[in-house]
Amino acid sequence: MASTVHAPRGTQDILPPDSARWSALEARAREVAGRFGYEEIRTPMFEATELFVRGVGETTDIVEKEMYTFTDKGDRSMTLRPEWTAPVVRAALEHKLFAQGARRFFYIGPIFRYERPQKGRYRQAHQFGVECFGYEQPQADAEVISLAWDLVRSHGITDAVLHLNTIGDAACRPLYRDALLAHFRPHLASLSEDSQRRLERNPMRILDSKDAADAAYIATAPTLSSVLCQPCRDHFEAVQNALRSANIPFVLNEKVVRGLDYYTRTVFEITSSVLGAQSTVCGGGRYDELVSSLGGPATPAVGFGLGLERFLMILDALGIHSETTRSGVQAIALGADARERLFTLVAQMRQETSMPVFMDFGDRKILAHLKIADRNAARYALILGSEELAKNEIVLRDLQTRSERRLPLGSGKEVCAAVGELE
Ligand code: ATP
Ligand code: MG
Repeated sequence: MASTVHAPRGTQDILPPDSARWSALEARAREVAGRFGYEEIRTPMFEATELFVRGVGETTDIVEKEMYTFTDKGDRSMTLRPEWTAPVVRAALEHKLFAQGARRFFYIGPIFRYERPQKGRYRQAHQFGVECFGYEQPQADAEVISLAWDLVRSHGITDAVLHLNTIGDAACRPLYRDALLAHFRPHLASLSEDSQRRLERNPMRILDSKDAADAAYIATAPTLSSVLCQPCRDHFEAVQNALRSANIPFVLNEKVVRGLDYYTRTVFEITSSVLGAQSTVCGGGRYDELVSSLGGPATPAVGFGLGLERFLMILDALGIHSETTRSGVQAIALGADARERLFTLVAQMRQETSMPVFMDFGDRKILAHLKIADRNAARYALILGSEELAKNEIVLRDLQTRSERRLPLGSGKEVCAAVGELE
């Protein structure tokens, strides 16, 4: 027998009934984004590699080791999208979407990162996120955070924590860099290999390290608040006030620095204790320098990315399940003649109604058909056997209340109307 082919390592097939949970989460995310006035944007699944090198930053984990990069047949270096922000900015610039001022976008779809697969960490993952362009005002930061928080709260997740920090701007961050260099340099030999490499290139990245070797030195590292400039201080205060006025609870956490180079000022993460080691479900912040660094006009921006796999893991762990409500009709034919007649009726019904109409074509006993109806979570069954066919009738059974009645075997429209009366 030929050997079977498996899904690539770090990827997941999303199968029924799980796929319904995915659709429901995606629908909720779209709905929340819509309520906040964000419009959907979709970009290609792959881009020129250069976009991510410039837009995400050469010293980030993503660009250093996680990109799926390949050379296409035209000898161009291409990379599967590892994150959405750089592509969204690229598309907005390419189509001059900033010409009319502020814009708000949301996205939903896969990202690809060559990571070591483990719980909550995959090579193809899915993100929902938003980007708000054109406002330096702290209300934009608070709005973006509120949107993420709304999605979390609307699912009844009660253990989520919002961590908030500021990482300064072009005026004060260089001072912080110097302070970190002075702190870590004497301990260089004891730091993890990654951190040693990061020290001269981007010492703030060390704070992001999860390596045990670095923990003690990170704990005693100077904090940015000691060097934060006054405009950054004021902005951060105003973000906190706006969050308080929107009733969003947060904790200040100076350890949140985010992995990507383009962040300025506000950074935030939403964590859940039930996730274990990969505890961050949502990360984001302000990135006022990115648009100009990709060749666009100076455009302040703030956004977040939220991992859908991790979000669903939280719902699982907390036992939050959306009720499966029975809906639609299972058409059940007993015998070939009945099947032929019923198929015509089903075709007509599907033109008439938006509720699901299921039909199994197999030769089975009624009990087997009713099992299939249960698996489809159908609310009603329409049963046509040879006896009914002879009398030009059909049985309509309510699978929830168990009551049933006989109808004339009429048109799809008439039968749908009869089902509608029961609804
Ligand atoms: P981590 O520190 O866990 O590696 P990150 O900082 O790389 O996260 P971001 O780039 O900010 O993550 O992406 C935002 C969110 O997307 C994360 O909080 C997480 O929920 C999700 N995410 C990122 N990478 C993966 C992955 N490989 N597998 C599953 N989810 C992911
Ligand atoms: Mg990562």
